[in-house]
Amino acid sequence: MLIYIDGEFLPQAEAKVSVFDHGLLYGDGVFEGIRSYNGRVFKLDEHLERLYDSAKSIMLQIPTPIETMKETVLETLRRNNLHEAYIRLIVTRGVGDLGLDPDKCPNPTIIIIADKITLYPQNFYEEGLDIVTTSIRRNYPEAINPRIKSLNYLNNILAKIEGKQAGAVEVLMLNADGYVVECSGDNIFWVKNGVLVTPPVHIGILEGVTRNSVIELARDAGMQVEERIFTRHALYIADECFLTGTAAEVIPVVNIDRRVIGDGQPGAVTQKLMAAFRQLANSTGTPIYV
Ligand code: PMP
Repeated sequence: MLIYIDGEFLPQAEAKVSVFDHGLLYGDGVFEGIRSYNGRVFKLDEHLERLYDSAKSIMLQIPTPIETMKETVLETLRRNNLHEAYIRLIVTRGVGDLGLDPDKCPNPTIIIIADKITLYPQNFYEEGLDIVTTSIRRNYPEAINPRIKSLNYLNNILAKIEGKQAGAVEVLMLNADGYVVECSGDNIFWVKNGVLVTPPVHIGILEGVTRNSVIELARDAGMQVEERIFTRHALYIADECFLTGTAAEVIPVVNIDRRVIGDGQPGAVTQKLMAAFRQLANSTGTPIYV
């Protein structure tokens, strides 16, 4: 495996960062998780835009123009001869001293890892997931805005740990006010009487690329889609529920906090959107090999 790091493609054993990198010392940096399907990178422009927006928000100036970054992502895939891949693009504040001061880090570190994709087991998609609510509240937007896809993922990891202890593969997170926001690494949707609902970005979620695609697919199919706040009660009495994310794609949820959702099977709307998303992912995107 060849990994891009600061202008070079290096074998895995040689691709290393300094112990003084503020990405390691403080989680000071931003990242993206991207997929390629059938030799095309899905929503590459959207992922790059979110990366640069996250960086701008934390006042991290990415030295590479977005077009060059795009080409470097594609080149990393080519060097590894990948068609179906998971791409991890990371920009850290770079090497500094042991203090917090980001101004002491003159050069951001850029890393691109392209690896084979590990998918959730097929039965999760056929049977749906059981999820539980974690006591860990999603980051307060005025503390660390969840819109920033930063290297500081401890909030999500603490949530994930609680979920695993309860035997769940994904966990539901609430914001400080008790409204449903998202899961540890996925956005959430529910369906009631044919209407699709998902939390709005401003209540403290990561604006998922998959989420936005699904909203567009649903609207194109003539569905009513609402972005509004809601509590867990709305989920408990929903007809259907599903999660979205780059790794998970669209995945049904059939049980939340021991409440059976709908009839306990992946619902019709969910299945329709799962199929529409797969179709979109497999037929669009930036070609890797031209
Ligand atoms: N929320 C969180 C907290 C995430 O980390 C992710 C990405 N894994 C998502 C939602 C889904 O975003 P995307 O569809 O862009 O992968």
